[in-house]
Amino acid sequence: MRTKTILPVALLLLIGQACNTKVEKQENMTSDKNELNAIFPKGEKGSEEWFTGNAYAIRLVAADSIHTTLAGNVYFEPKARSHWHTHPSGQILIITDGVGYHQIEGQEIEVIKKGDVVKCPPKVKHWHGASPDVGLQQLYIIPNTEQGIVDWMEPVTDEQYTSKN
Ligand code: MN
Repeated sequence: MRTKTILPVALLLLIGQACNTKVEKQENMTSDKNELNAIFPKGEKGSEEWFTGNAYAIRLVAADSIHTTLAGNVYFEPKARSHWHTHPSGQILIITDGVGYHQIEGQEIEVIKKGDVVKCPPKVKHWHGASPDVGLQQLYIIPNTEQGIVDWMEPVTDEQYTSKN
């Protein structure tokens, strides 16, 4: 019984060693995939007051007296999402990598992915974030900040988040 099992195990070990380099490369690619293609610095972890899960935000353009527009990047790890919120003057999202969800209250969840541009009208309740398995890199643009930036509301429940599947 023993001699029968030793040979296959020895073969597996040999095959395993031969494939070591390949396995390492694949692992590196996987970790790159998890981080996605980060164009901008990751920034600070978003507060639990406004986000569920791990989201990181960095401001890229600050509003001033000439350009009353904010722009920045948010990286959502898989399953991470914003709470429900509105923007007094609306918001534009530009997705630079990954796969995520965007939902306007009363509508179905919309899948958003690299290359998509999403407009959310002023004062419309919505949320956005990553899909369950793949993270999301999104640029946000908020125009006319003199009207306000964001009004935060309640968290997106797991039931709401998983209603896509
Ligand atoms: Mn928004």
